[in-house]
Amino acid sequence: MYIVHTIQDIRKLVSVWKAEGLTIGFVPTMGYLHEGHAALLQQARQENDRVVLSIFVNPSQFGPQEDLDSYPRDIKADTKLASANGVDAMFVPTVDELYVDPKTSVHIQDLSATLCGVSRPIHFTGVCTVVTKLFNIINPDRAYFGEKDAQQLAIIRKLVVDLNIPVDIVGVPIVREPDGLARSSRNTYLSPDERKAATVLYKAILEGKRMVEAQRDASVLIAAMTHIIDEEPLARIDYISIVDQYTMQPVEQVEGAVLVAMAVYIGHTRLIDNFSYDPS
Ligand code: AMP
Repeated sequence: MYIVHTIQDIRKLVSVWKAEGLTIGFVPTMGYLHEGHAALLQQARQENDRVVLSIFVNPSQFGPQEDLDSYPRDIKADTKLASANGVDAMFVPTVDELYVDPKTSVHIQDLSATLCGVSRPIHFTGVCTVVTKLFNIINPDRAYFGEKDAQQLAIIRKLVVDLNIPVDIVGVPIVREPDGLARSSRNTYLSPDERKAATVLYKAILEGKRMVEAQRDASVLIAAMTHIIDEEPLARIDYISIVDQYTMQPVEQVEGAVLVAMAVYIGHTRLIDNFSYDPS
């Protein structure tokens, strides 16, 4: 496995592979890799001749009060997990390598204004900017994103259409802990009590999934899920919302394909979870 730190070197490597007619699967991450990331890598491994993983904690997607400085990092463990999952090249740039006095950003309207975009107003501009840059640097055939970050996935799908970026975007199902908590690098922030309390997100997801089969009124579904979260003293809801799967705009009735999404603080840690549902 190659470990590459510069744009020039990853470009050189990928261009050699492309000249040989090989396909490139790309998995962008912020590192501190876990089984969720491994699922993306495994799918990329199956569908492509070469797999490129990037590890970059992107400052431009963190707000001023967010956890950029404390975001967990362990490049040694990441290298091991990457190698065990068949990664061919790990691209690990520094902030200075990717951002040199930038004046340009990529902003997506409307889709970024709901759900996580409300409490994280600059987040998706940071994500869209760095993903566009990484696509331009790596030039992959396919790129893999987790359904755990479902709004991000919807945004990237729209981004590549709007900007004519020739990359197939592949969504990968949420990987969970045995008790249902969605795997996340941020789970490491949870104290043992908070870790127990965090299972309340999945309880609410299961109840939402069960109810939506017979109940199409979004406010009734949201109220039931809210009630479950409110029973957990360590939990504080940021949002629970039901939006159109493509536009990310709230719906009153579940008529087409929707995303049921939530962000919940457990102590100081903000966790997200979701499920998709299509009545047809
Ligand atoms: P992150 O390192 O948190 O930015 O995540 C990198 C990629 O891994 C994103 O596309 C995430 O959606 C995906 N991912 C993170 N956690 C999970 C999970 N539990 N299941 C599936 N994909 C995940």
